[in-house]
Amino acid sequence: MKRCLVTGGAGFIGSHLVEVLLARGHDVSVIDDESTGSRDNLAAVADHPNLHYTKGSVADASLVRDAIAEVDEVYHLAAAVGVELIARAPIRTIETNIYPTELLLTELGRQHEAGRAVKFFLASTSEVYGKNPKPRWDEEDDLVFGSTTRARWSYGASKAIDEFLALAYWREQRLPVVVGRFFNVVGPRQSAAYGMVLPRFIEAALAGRKLTVHDDGRQTRSFAYVDDVVQTVLGLVESPQATGRVFNIGSDQPVEILDLARRVITQVDPRLGIEFVSYAEAYSPDFEDCRHRVPNLDRLRDVLGAIPSCDLDEMISRVISWRRQIAQTNT
Ligand code: UDP
Repeated sequence: MKRCLVTGGAGFIGSHLVEVLLARGHDVSVIDDESTGSRDNLAAVADHPNLHYTKGSVADASLVRDAIAEVDEVYHLAAAVGVELIARAPIRTIETNIYPTELLLTELGRQHEAGRAVKFFLASTSEVYGKNPKPRWDEEDDLVFGSTTRARWSYGASKAIDEFLALAYWREQRLPVVVGRFFNVVGPRQSAAYGMVLPRFIEAALAGRKLTVHDDGRQTRSFAYVDDVVQTVLGLVESPQATGRVFNIGSDQPVEILDLARRVITQVDPRLGIEFVSYAEAYSPDFEDCRHRVPNLDRLRDVLGAIPSCDLDEMISRVISWRRQIAQTNT
């Protein structure tokens, strides 16, 4: 049995990770401020004897110090989420992303010097590549951000600082860290409130509304299913080969956003329409999107062998079923 801390454990990805860690027999502590996550996400394991839940901030030094004093692994998933939130609240994005990572690493560094090596998984993001024009991004590629006058890039830049810091702790102190860059993860419990495209499309479709596609819909993303992503994270944390390294995590099968909208419509109601809106209308006049985003997963395959990958229509179908179930429970 391992003792694990999951920051952001009441969030979308965090709650799935917590469930799997508990199912594997581990002891799991969660810190979550419930700013974008919700304790309801952990309803299925709420009474589990090995779950220790604290509503609190990962910026709280004494809370963090106590929490990491007795764990073997830290999964740091607490972060600002969603392009819409980032465009709206850049101060919160930057502060939420940088300071808690620094605090966790400082405290873990102290423990490490005292002879306790705690493994640290940093949840990073494909946003660190910015708008790199390469058709596939690999982990050694340049980070290509837009101007600092465009708030969107503060998310990727702040996560890049986290990565630099984690890797510096590995380089200088041999603190065992693993960095995972998530690419467009989807699944049950992902909120539609922060701009994410699939839950928004499904929410609109189930309400009988038109789906809102930004720009011409020809921008692409590669969507990965949350269960597959959790398995990948656990595989990396267990693998000695992954220590001190950065990994793309997700699917390498891109889809145009317009195609995604059509797939949702096919599954929910073929009579539904699509409405195109500009980025300026959807976000802000200075908004810059990232046109294409496909990870190179060679490094991940080298370390893990085969990577689990759910089919896109199956992912859509599972999220639709979950939303329908939630709607039924609430009526
Ligand atoms: N998008 C869209 N309609 C929506 C929400 C998003 O067309 O209701 C587009 C968005 O402009 C982007 C893509 O879908 O090009 C993915 O957006 P999301 O916020 O899910 O993720 P990210 O931009 O971080 O990849």
